[in-house]
Amino acid sequence: MVDAAIIGAGPAGLSAAIDLTLLEKRFLWFGSPSEKVARSEKIANYPGLGLLSGAELSRRFAEHAAQLGIEPANKLVTNIMAMDGKYMLLAENEVYEARTVLLATGAVAAKGLPGEQEYLGRGVSYCATCDGYFYRGKRIAVICASPRYEHEAAYLAGLAGETFFWPAYKDCTLSAEGMTRLDSPITAVTGGLKVSAVTLADGRSLPVDGVFCLRSAVAPAVLLPALAMDGPHITVDRQCRTNLPGCFAAGDCTGRPYQIAKAVGEGNVAAHAMVEYLAQNE
Ligand SMILES: Cc1cc2nc3c(=O)[nH]c(=O)nc-3n(C[C@H](O)[C@H](O)[C@H](O)COP(=O)(O)OP(=O)(O)OC[C@H]3O[C@@H](n4cnc5c(N)ncnc54)[C@H](O)[C@@H]3O)c2cc1C
Repeated sequence: MVDAAIIGAGPAGLSAAIDLTLLEKRFLWFGSPSEKVARSEKIANYPGLGLLSGAELSRRFAEHAAQLGIEPANKLVTNIMAMDGKYMLLAENEVYEARTVLLATGAVAAKGLPGEQEYLGRGVSYCATCDGYFYRGKRIAVICASPRYEHEAAYLAGLAGETFFWPAYKDCTLSAEGMTRLDSPITAVTGGLKVSAVTLADGRSLPVDGVFCLRSAVAPAVLLPALAMDGPHITVDRQCRTNLPGCFAAGDCTGRPYQIAKAVGEGNVAAHAMVEYLAQNE
């Protein structure tokens, strides 16, 4: 079992990963490089770097990680369970164990869509490759948060009998056989014991067997329901400790201001607090 699992590869997760490496801890690291950083046109308030583009800062972040020989696993963590002084994490159908967890997941809507949390595992899925097979020939809805996931949406459309597709971004050109592009956002997931429909903003209800939410993040309250939250933010103390022993949080997910310097600072604080926790709980 490793000392720590970091969930998130944005500035907060990277900062913690750097410190845990320098402090010689064994850790798992999940996430994809921050789209928020990459999308920033100009960053002018990160000390020491002057004015630079988000793309350039992303490149430097990746370079720093590579210099230390660390790289995040591009996997979405979909569930975390606290168990007898350790944490079990589920990422793309694989289970991992760590003594501590750092949530550095960025700012995410508190619980996703209405019905999303309730039907997770009962028709709602975050992983096309893990669960797509079960929807062969069926009718599904796909919510795609970024062009990064279009290949997964296309894969699902190839398996399903009928796919209702909602790209939550502009200028999407994806099309596939059996895929209907929605012109109104999906606003809720509904059903009985299992998912049976999605509701659209225009009031329509479309019958479906499954809903795939293709995003780079999962809301903290979905990941770890026992977590104390203040609205969409995880409640932490000044050591970035959450209400759950051994579970820490850093960056945008703990609250405003949503800034790189704050995320990096909290990642550093959290890493040190995790090391202290590990020493106290040998
Ligand atoms: C357009 C724009 C411009 C900005 N300009 C500036 C600026 O000029 N200066 C400034 O200081 N800030 C700026 N910001 C804000 C800044 O980008 C954020 O504050 C910062 O990226 C937060 O870092 P973070 O690590 O907390 O979260 P994020 O950068 O959001 O990273 C979150 C990470 O968590 C991962 N993740 C989430 N859930 C999971 C999961 N379940 N499993 C695996 N991985 C997961 C994601 O893949 C991602 O790697 C800007 C933001 C935007 C959108």
